[in-house]
Amino acid sequence: MEFKELTDLCEKLEATTKRNLMTSTVADFLRRLGKEEVEPAISMLLGRPFPRWDPRTLDVSWATLSRIIQRLTGASWREFSVAFRDTGDMGAATKIIFERNKTQRQVTLFEKPLTILEVRSVFEAIAEASGQGSRERKERLIESLLGRASPVEVKYLVKIMIGEMRTGLQEGLMEIAVSKAFSIPLEKIRTASMLTGDIAEAAAICMKEGLKGISSLSFKIFRPIKPMLAQTVDNPEEALKEHGGKTAFEYKLDGARIQIHKSGSKVRIFSRRLTDVTRSLPEVVEVIRREVKPKEAIMEGEVIALGKDGNPLPFQHLMRRFRRVYSIERISEDIPVELHLFDLIYMDGESLIEVPYVERRRRLKEAAGGIFLTRQIVTDDPAEAERFLDEAVNRGHEGLMAKRLNSPYTPGVRGKHWLKIKKTLEPLDLVIIAAEYGTGRRHRWLSDYHLAARDEETGEFLMLGKTFKGLTDREMEEMTKRLKQIALEERGHIVIVEPRIVVEVAYNEIQKSPKYRSGMALRFARITRIRDDKSPDEADTIQKVRRIYEKQFARKARFFIE
Ligand code: AMP
Repeated sequence: MEFKELTDLCEKLEATTKRNLMTSTVADFLRRLGKEEVEPAISMLLGRPFPRWDPRTLDVSWATLSRIIQRLTGASWREFSVAFRDTGDMGAATKIIFERNKTQRQVTLFEKPLTILEVRSVFEAIAEASGQGSRERKERLIESLLGRASPVEVKYLVKIMIGEMRTGLQEGLMEIAVSKAFSIPLEKIRTASMLTGDIAEAAAICMKEGLKGISSLSFKIFRPIKPMLAQTVDNPEEALKEHGGKTAFEYKLDGARIQIHKSGSKVRIFSRRLTDVTRSLPEVVEVIRREVKPKEAIMEGEVIALGKDGNPLPFQHLMRRFRRVYSIERISEDIPVELHLFDLIYMDGESLIEVPYVERRRRLKEAAGGIFLTRQIVTDDPAEAERFLDEAVNRGHEGLMAKRLNSPYTPGVRGKHWLKIKKTLEPLDLVIIAAEYGTGRRHRWLSDYHLAARDEETGEFLMLGKTFKGLTDREMEEMTKRLKQIALEERGHIVIVEPRIVVEVAYNEIQKSPKYRSGMALRFARITRIRDDKSPDEADTIQKVRRIYEKQFARKARFFIE
């Protein structure tokens, strides 16, 4: 099938918010695909060049892409930023640039139209380009791909390459569309999507093998499944109530969740988002090979980074391990990680997802050899649970998880079988010093806010981070009006404003950051209230933020490397 049909479909999806219409249009489209086209088409419709479990990535930055687009069209930076301002979307902005600069592009009338399979194979070639000269090779491949595409096709190629599809067609809707397309009950599709970890893959099985194929699916080693998720409660007592008076409390570690697949001596590790991170964690692979007893197993756990004093390090340091895959050996010496297992999903041909949690945990203990399990108590006593929470937090962890004793493992579901209990840091009152127009739906509003705290010594406002989270649409609209009234100047897409508006900001952690002059940055900042009752000189100070930052280290180890 021609790629154009896929992009026409995307345009239709973009133009509607009606879920029914979306799923039936997609279903019609899916029915017309060839067997080999189903997986690539669905992956692309969901904004992924490859299936989700696939370790390959294009590794192409927006900077590279925009350079290529400029080369092809002769457009200037200014033209780009105006188009982006008008649309709030990289893909749509690129389409405008391509339409406007048609004449500059080489005439490609005689070339055959792009097909879905061709696009996939170019993506494969881009992902596989490695070693010396790979940058140039990648660029050439992209250039000839975009050179052959129409403006609408370019729009979606860009969106897929940078992973920002934004047609409103989420995975849940895709499951409904697949169910409609192949007349297979939605429940079966959901189970298959969970077992294969990817709706595109599940749909391909529907088309090739029908209801029979999809019903006989089971776990497959090296195919990650969607992780079970947790809801939040405020305290251990609430968790006890929810779980019928007695439950298993575990340390909630502040690390990265991993799903480990093992068959014989072969081990692969997947992140929470189901990408393959095996290469980033060689020592985890080693310990699994050495310690885990069953021949085949799928397990879950959390890896945490450790400081020199053996205490857990803030999350950001761990993330460096996932980002840098090249000089891994050096980094693994610098940032040792420790694995704590918490679940066993599959073992030697047997699925354990229906087995009650206590029993899974018992079997995990047997299977895990010398590997730590997350610390756990089973109790019906709120006071004991409260003490356990304090102990977890004092040892530098995030809080507790409560797990219902007889609960199954429910992949991909954020239910009440697992509850998380966190101790949060006190919110800060910060001042908005600048704002940016948002992207997508928010592109007409000043909706990304630069947050700052006052320096007691100089009176200056020093930035601590940005956020677009927390305000309702109405509040954003209102805030845009207010900010425009106090605007001082525009620098590109950033509007600098007088420091007058105070907002209350919640966050998960204060990190060290070279990005801002304050030297610190808030992780996961979100606005919780607009504090019109406070004036900017009543806002919190940099000195206070620094004190909170230091206090974190009373619990967390300091980072010694830099
Ligand atoms: P959240 O990311 O805040 O929704 O919390 C859920 C996450 O907590 C999981 O995805 C895990 O990465 C992490 N976690 C830490 N400790 C545990 C534990 N003992 N059991 C399950 N998840 C845990």
